[in-house]
Amino acid sequence: MTICEHLDLSASCAGTRLFRWWKWAAAVPRHELLCIFGTGDLGRSLGQRLLQCGYKVVYGSRRPGGCGPLPQGTQAMNHEAAAQHAHLIFICVHREHYDFLEPLAPQLKGKVLVDVSNNLKKNLYTDSNAEYLQRLIPGAHVVKAFNTLSAWALQNGPADANRQVYLCGNNAEAKQAVTETATKLGFSVLDRGSLSAARELEDFPLQLFPRWRLPIRLTIGLTASFFFYLLLREVIYSYIVQQKDMSFRIMVSLANKVFPIVSLILLSLCYLPGIIAAFLQLYRGTKYKRFPDWLDRWMLCRKQLGLLALAFASLHVLYTLILSFRYYVRYRLAAHTISQIRENKTSPFDTTMAWRTDTYYSMGIIGFCFYLLLGISSLPSVSNALSWREFSFIQSKLGYITLFFCTFHTYLYGWDRFLYPSTYKWFSPPGYMLSLVVPTVVLVLKLLLLLPCVDRSLIRIRQGWERTDPEEESTKSLLR
Ligand code: NAP
Repeated sequence: MTICEHLDLSASCAGTRLFRWWKWAAAVPRHELLCIFGTGDLGRSLGQRLLQCGYKVVYGSRRPGGCGPLPQGTQAMNHEAAAQHAHLIFICVHREHYDFLEPLAPQLKGKVLVDVSNNLKKNLYTDSNAEYLQRLIPGAHVVKAFNTLSAWALQNGPADANRQVYLCGNNAEAKQAVTETATKLGFSVLDRGSLSAARELEDFPLQLFPRWRLPIRLTIGLTASFFFYLLLREVIYSYIVQQKDMSFRIMVSLANKVFPIVSLILLSLCYLPGIIAAFLQLYRGTKYKRFPDWLDRWMLCRKQLGLLALAFASLHVLYTLILSFRYYVRYRLAAHTISQIRENKTSPFDTTMAWRTDTYYSMGIIGFCFYLLLGISSLPSVSNALSWREFSFIQSKLGYITLFFCTFHTYLYGWDRFLYPSTYKWFSPPGYMLSLVVPTVVLVLKLLLLLPCVDRSLIRIRQGWERTDPEEESTKSLLR
């Protein structure tokens, strides 16, 4: 067979295939046949998911015959042919290549174009990708949707990934069509309004832990400050004043002092904004005035603060577990025992000390267990299964109890050390003392809020009651 004969034959085969497809596509109801432009990662995952949910899928590609493996049961053809029968077309192509769509404007007139694209950086273009697409094809109805999902998430289904699909667009019917498809795929749809919201949706996937930034900065700041503070007191002081090299303490001893200090402060910082908000409401006599921005932002990152506090508390637990294996501790214990044997001395049993240490450990263990409970209940899968009352009971009441146990644990650690002048090296208070300031303030203020007269006023304000200003009232009555 000559090459020409071969090409003729394959062309006629392709023609027959196209004709069969044409007949088949015409028989499929319009809303069941969807088209995807682009056979890349997202196009393939989306196609597979649509197939699994009972849709028929046709791909529009630059190279229908050579676009790699596609989900079984789909067809690939050129863009023009693919767009012919489908009413809804997903544009799974990068914005940089959108110009290929311009000549297809007549075929795309009246169709719903779903723009799934994202950019590599914020403010890369003056307009959003979806608005750009709408300008290229003014006769089509562009809907921005699905861009916050990854190809991986689409393949695995909504059980494993984010369940929400944000969408926006100017045409209500077009949005309805996309909403129906997304719902059939198992996603819940959040309509963000007109196409002018597309830029906001395109910025969503580019956000880098927005709620974690402040808590992480705070944690790093606290950790670094306390590390250097303790380094000064525990290592540099010993080196300069006592001529002793205690630098080995940095790895375990110092770290195990910094972790609980930071953890306790972070935990109390979770509850401080709620207390400030309550006092602000009491002072203003209304809940209908906005909180200052800094307080709003602080309140929004309480969960992250709590999780970081839990992480530091866990480190403290792990470091405490290895304390008894440390060479330094074993050495000190052996030296002490040997010196007692040599001097034929026995330390008398100190019941107060036994009570103190046992209570100290017990408070720490209970506090940590409550800490874990708080962390577990903040997981979306757990909190979704709780009623609002159950959730607020755990996060608020149990939270304060946790803070109380951990603060008490720290007070027991300090015990009567504050009475000894040697505690104040270079006139500086020890780290544990500094760590007690914020939690103690939080607990005292909480106790004030629990006083029946204060609590009653706060409940009334939170139920909508407003205190009227007597001066304002008298001005109003004069004007009447
Ligand atoms: P990709 O793997 O690079 O695929 C893009 C597809 O576009 C190619 O397979 C190609 O399909 C088509 N294409 C490439 N150059 C073209 C050109 N010059 N003219 C016409 N078509 C061209 O990209 P992707 O990861 O699937 O992403 C596609 C879009 O979805 C992007 O806008 C991206 O921002 C968005 N998105 C992706 C993800 C993800 O997880 N991947 C998540 C959310 C949003 P043919 O060869 O068949 O023509």
